[in-house]
Amino acid sequence: MVTAIHRPTWLSVDLDAATHNLQAIRRWTKAKKVYAVLKANGYGLGAVQLAQAFETTAAADAFVVSNLDEALELRQAGIVRPIWVLGAWGYEDLDLFIKNKIVITVPSLDWLQHLPILSGQLMLSLAIDTGMTRIGFDQADQIAAAKQLIDQNPQLSLFSVYTHFATADESGEQSQHYFDMQLQRWHDLVDRQGFDPDLFSMANSATCIWHAGDPRISFAAIRPGQLISGVNVSNGDLPMPRDLQLEKVLGLYTELADVRFVKKGQALSYGATQTMPQDGYVGTMPFGYNDGWLRRMQGSSVLINQKKMPILGRITMDQTMVLLDQKYPLGTRVTLIGKDGPEEITLESVAAYSHTIVDEIQTTLAPRIKRIYT
Ligand code: PLP
Repeated sequence: MVTAIHRPTWLSVDLDAATHNLQAIRRWTKAKKVYAVLKANGYGLGAVQLAQAFETTAAADAFVVSNLDEALELRQAGIVRPIWVLGAWGYEDLDLFIKNKIVITVPSLDWLQHLPILSGQLMLSLAIDTGMTRIGFDQADQIAAAKQLIDQNPQLSLFSVYTHFATADESGEQSQHYFDMQLQRWHDLVDRQGFDPDLFSMANSATCIWHAGDPRISFAAIRPGQLISGVNVSNGDLPMPRDLQLEKVLGLYTELADVRFVKKGQALSYGATQTMPQDGYVGTMPFGYNDGWLRRMQGSSVLINQKKMPILGRITMDQTMVLLDQKYPLGTRVTLIGKDGPEEITLESVAAYSHTIVDEIQTTLAPRIKRIYT
C-alpha cells in the first residue's frame, strides 16, 4: 500500500475542529471521562494524528480502537494514555497487552475462567450485552462470578464496564422502545453488582448527542467516535440539537488533471452508459472507486468554481469525469466534500446519495489518499 503523495487528491483534516468537538461533547454530556474512539484509523482521518492532538490538549482521557495492531500503532507513536481494544481477543497476544498497558475486552465468563498464567498486570473492560448480541455478558450471575474472579486476582484490574446501544441514532417508536429495553437490561444486569460507577461507559456518539441528561444513563465515561468529525451521525434521521455546536473536520479535494472538448452524443467511460448532453468540456479528475468514491456515486455532483457540476459516466478505478460549464485550466480545484463559496457538499449528503451511513463513506476513504492536517 502506498499513499499517493504526489497526486493532487487530498483529505484535509482540521485537528482543532476535532478537538473542539470532543470538548463540546464533554460539556454537553457532563462526562467525567472522554474515551475517543479511533478505530479504523480514526474513522479514516488518521488515528495517530488525532490521538496526539487529543492527548496534548487533554480532550481525551483514553483511546479506544478495534484491534491490537491499532493499539500498538498509537503506543509506538508515543501515546501514553490508556488504550482499549474493543474486539474480542484470543490469549496468544496477552503479553503484548500487558507489556504495552493495553486494555483488553472480556467477552464472556468462559474467556475469563480460561485465562492462562499472566506475565504481569492486565487491564480489563467488561462487555455487557444488553441487545447488540455481539459480545458480552447477558446473565447477572455470570457478571457476579466475573467480578469475583477479577477482585480475587491482583494481576487483573477493571478499566471499564460498558454496553453499546443498537438504536440510539434512530427516531421512531420501535427504536426508542429497543433503546429503553437495553437500558432496562443494563440496570437488571449491573445494578447491585457493587461496581464503582465511575467505571461505567454507555454512550457512543448518538447516545451522547440525543440522550444526554437521561438519568438512566451513566455518562461517567463516554465513547464517541463518528461525532469527532462534527457530522450528524443519525444520517438525517434526528436533528442536531441547536445548542451543540460541532465543527466540520474533513474536506476532500482534487484538481482537474485533464480538460477536453467533447461533442454532443459522445459516450463516456465504461459501459458507455452516458453520452455528452451537449457540445462542451469534460474534466477528468484523479480519483475513483479505489479511493472510496464508489461506483454508486455516478451522477452525483462535485464543486468547481463555486458551482455544482455533475459526474458523467461510470466512476472508474482511478479517474472520474465531470461535465464542465466552461473550459477550466488544468489544476483547477475540485471539492468533493466541503465548501466552495456558497455551495457545500456534506459527508451526510454523500452518504444519503450512496444509500449508506456517514461512517461507511468516511472509513472507506482509501489509505492512498494523502491526509493534510491543519
Ligand atoms: N463503542 C463501541 C463498543 C463501538 O463499537 C463503537 C463503534 O461502533 C463506538 C463506541 C463508537 O460509536 P460511534 O462512532 O457511533 O460514536
